[in-house]
Amino acid sequence: MSTPVLSLNASAQTLSAMAMNPLQHLGRKPRLLIVDDQAVNIQALYQVFAADHQVFMATSGAQALALCRDRRPDLVLLDVQMPVMDGFEVCRQIKADAELQDTPVVFVTAHSDAAAETQGMDVGAVDFISKPFNPAVVRARVKTHLMLKLQADLLRQMAFVDGLTGLHNRRFFDERLDAEFQRARRSGDTLAVLIADVDYFKRYNDQYGHQAGDEVLRQVAQLMRSQLKRPADLISRYGGEEFACILPDTPLQGALALAAEMQEALKAARIAHVGSDIGPFLTLSLGVATMQPGPGRVEAELLVAADEQLYLAKLHGRARVCGRSLD
Ligand code: GH3
Ligand code: MG
Ligand code: MG
Repeated sequence: MSTPVLSLNASAQTLSAMAMNPLQHLGRKPRLLIVDDQAVNIQALYQVFAADHQVFMATSGAQALALCRDRRPDLVLLDVQMPVMDGFEVCRQIKADAELQDTPVVFVTAHSDAAAETQGMDVGAVDFISKPFNPAVVRARVKTHLMLKLQADLLRQMAFVDGLTGLHNRRFFDERLDAEFQRARRSGDTLAVLIADVDYFKRYNDQYGHQAGDEVLRQVAQLMRSQLKRPADLISRYGGEEFACILPDTPLQGALALAAEMQEALKAARIAHVGSDIGPFLTLSLGVATMQPGPGRVEAELLVAADEQLYLAKLHGRARVCGRSLD
């Protein structure tokens, strides 16, 4: 799950405006998938939505599922009666797929009896529209369901984003670590965890005030993030002035090098910190641990080891990197 991070530091006002009208703040046309085995039916719906939606079309269940995975539509308009795989089965499969299950499905069908409608809702559809349809009504219903879907997306994103720095939060980190650990177990790759902690940060707050402290945390977050090189690398705000990274397929040397680059970037920023015992500028201590997750190993070992290495970095004088391979 790689949810895109909300725009950095969106204010409460912005978030509330986004929640009120997510369609307006989407920054792209909503994506719609129309599924029907009859081209003429697809055509009729296409004309209703083409102007202000990005429309994808499928004429079979298999094609619909493939398009869902490739194009990630915001909503699916789904015919019930199709040969080979009917609409109910397509819907069932969408709802059974962790990556797709948040996609709302609206059935469009000639059969509008109560039993079919109930069955549609049972397999997870949000609405049922009968053919022949009224274009204005279909538009209005689709708009409502799109709004709800985008609002839910926003909430899901907010649950995984740190409000101060705009980075992913610890909850997201924990979920990703679990997933990446499983992935590395299957692939045999080495997984690295890096934890960074700002040195003498309590004194920074005492000296410059909590607001300035907050601003510095944002700056450190940006600096660290800008050093990541691969799309699969993840940085999160792990605690107050602690940041944690997951680096898939990264051996110890690579993780140590990245930690050193993060330190260099912070050093170059020359953020004044007169209360530090290290020198006149703000510094970071970093701990790194790596592991090839073989049988019987758990991700907690990796996290604990990175934390131990961070502790050693503090113990040996701060403003340094300590690391260890667990293999
Ligand atoms: P060390 O070098 O050993 O890491 O010392 P430290 O002072 O950085 O560590 P300590 O854990 O004693 O203090 C961490 C401080 O970070 C205390 C807390 O007030 C501050 N802090 C935590 N979260 C925030 C935040 O969101 N904003 C600000 N401004 N300060 C924070
Ligand atoms: Mg700390
Ligand atoms: Mg600290």
